[in-house]
Amino acid sequence: MELNSRLPSGPIETSWDRTRFEMKLVNPANKRRHSLIVVGSGLAGASAAATLGELGYKVKCFCFQDSPRRAHSIAAQGGINAAKNYQNDGDSVYRLFYDTVKGGDFRAREANVYRLAQISVSIIDQCVAQGVPFAREYGGTLANRSFGGAQVSRTFYARGQTGQQLLLGAYQALERQVDAGAVEMYPRTEMLDLIVIDGRARGIVTRHLVTGEVNVHIADAVILGTGGYGNVFYLSTNAKGSNVTASWRAHKRGALFANPCYTQIHPTCIPVSGDYQSKLTLMSESLRNDGRIWVPKQKGDKRPPDQIPEPDRDYYLERRYPSFGNLVPRDVASRNAKYVCDEGRGVGETGLGVYLDFSDAIKRLGRKTIEERYGNLFDMYQRITDEDPYKVPMRIYPAIHYTMGGLWVDYHLMSTIPGLFVIGEANFSDHGANRLGASALMQGLSDGYFIIPYTVGHYLANNKVEAVSESHPEVRNAVACVQQTTQKLLNINGKRTVDSFHRQLGKIVWDYCGMSRNAAGLETAIGQIRELRDEYWQNVKVPGSADDLNQSLEKAGRVADFFELAELMCVDALERNESCGGHFREEYQTPDGEAQRDDDHYSYVAAWGYRGYGNREELSKEPLEFEYVHPSQRSYK
Ligand SMILES: Cc1cc2nc3c(=O)[nH]c(=O)nc-3n(C[C@H](O)[C@H](O)[C@H](O)COP(=O)(O)OP(=O)(O)OC[C@H]3O[C@@H](n4cnc5c(N)ncnc54)[C@H](O)[C@@H]3O)c2cc1C
Repeated sequence: MELNSRLPSGPIETSWDRTRFEMKLVNPANKRRHSLIVVGSGLAGASAAATLGELGYKVKCFCFQDSPRRAHSIAAQGGINAAKNYQNDGDSVYRLFYDTVKGGDFRAREANVYRLAQISVSIIDQCVAQGVPFAREYGGTLANRSFGGAQVSRTFYARGQTGQQLLLGAYQALERQVDAGAVEMYPRTEMLDLIVIDGRARGIVTRHLVTGEVNVHIADAVILGTGGYGNVFYLSTNAKGSNVTASWRAHKRGALFANPCYTQIHPTCIPVSGDYQSKLTLMSESLRNDGRIWVPKQKGDKRPPDQIPEPDRDYYLERRYPSFGNLVPRDVASRNAKYVCDEGRGVGETGLGVYLDFSDAIKRLGRKTIEERYGNLFDMYQRITDEDPYKVPMRIYPAIHYTMGGLWVDYHLMSTIPGLFVIGEANFSDHGANRLGASALMQGLSDGYFIIPYTVGHYLANNKVEAVSESHPEVRNAVACVQQTTQKLLNINGKRTVDSFHRQLGKIVWDYCGMSRNAAGLETAIGQIRELRDEYWQNVKVPGSADDLNQSLEKAGRVADFFELAELMCVDALERNESCGGHFREEYQTPDGEAQRDDDHYSYVAAWGYRGYGNREELSKEPLEFEYVHPSQRSYK
């Protein structure tokens, strides 16, 4: 398929301004005649729904939680980037743009990233105006800290609860519109299909998670802000409910899925403790500002950390990357943790852990300062591990955390289905092959508050939308598909639980398409996924009925979609014969173990098109061009 990314021409610094000026506007009086669906009420969805409501559109907003306030965004801990340069340490829009393109290992679009860096400054103003309680310096100015992949301090934060505070801001803006009648909120309602009529997205089919009722919602355009697909790995730092179903069902209706193999492994999570664990917990990257990462120099050194003297410790990130030290980007930090553990120098019972040590920082700054900066994270760590990180170094290990891949969108954030827009983590847009810390919140809010309100308007102004009746054959077809899938899952009545399949699937994806990949392993994974998927459709047990609350049924549909996505991730990883960012193919590495890109052959976005159950998807390529930040071997040394 020919992909038209609608990238602006001319100088990058003014390209978004020009695009906005050239866009058609919808007259204020006409806005109320347009209906819009926003699926998702995380930072991306809530900010979009609130802004579109404020502009005067008739908006319906959906989420599967009991309240928009419970979206996964609430879990974000460390902070949100913005090029405000409050620290006067050399930051600028251009530097944030540069860091993000480089951090993404030259696999993102320059124009998108430049726009993101520009908008970052407005996001902070917007959130401060809403009352988001960002940390402040003694004199009242907003405080900043550093995150990986940057040598400036540009991360705004609210202790370790930045996502929660930002979401409260967006939620209040949303509720104001609900109160004003501009937005209708549909909690506990899951989108299970997209309605496409005459090639355009015109609505969704939903199931109410408490009553089981299946409903149709028609609109002039649909916006998905449905989050990432990290839970394909089963164990992840994502909220348990996060899933790929909305994106995947849209994919099956024709939206291309871009770069599915670009997933992010976060270096600082609490290590896995046993086979029956269902969730992993992140220890925010912000901790790497003050914590020092080390392992014993000697293989198999089992002494408690306080009995390992300085000369016997290896601060391996500081040693290998003296310029960035503990603040190297996530892909680099994760890979290095894996290397030292593979060498037999990992700590803890399983040997799959490294120390994150605050003793120097506590000596230098005092316990009170550390408490102020990270108190809630330390408490959380202590509650989970029963160890006091003020006294004993934390033990951490990489875990799946974020997905850079997602539905393909053009510069207007529109997918390959006209009228279907995708925002936040659900799209693939801005982070290339590796996202820098604190940039996801920035992107979600940039998409929701500042981009989508313009681009959706432009779409509506350019396209006449006809009324659609619920008896339209495409509407009836989408409803029938939802009902058939639900019934099929209930009828199998096999012997294994949905979770047992999901856990097994996650292990395959982690083992073969996780922190590192190779061709033979990916082939094996594709075979195993197909086999397990066939067994799933014959042997899964979904108790209960479709007519009331049934969490097994909810999960069963989501896991069915994860199976298909997992295969596509492996196919995409196999197709990309290079390493870049989080996609580390063992066959392609530099002599000192860094990712080895192949720009001549792989400087493109891989966008996959669905071709029916079990069939190999079709690959379309969007070439990437770099006019401003020239691709080079990423170095953080
Ligand atoms: C533990 C943790 C900490 C993080 N910390 C940071 C940080 O400090 N800084 C940073 O920049 N990023 C951070 N991230 C990443 C960031 O939190 C996410 O990328 C971001 O919040 C995603 O926002 P979103 O609005 O796109 O999606 P989400 O917040 O995941 O929201 C998805 C919404 O879609 C709805 N939804 C999904 N599917 C359906 C469906 N089928 N039907 C109806 N509704 C549906 C859900 O109900 C929900 O409302 C962190 C991530 C994790 C896991």
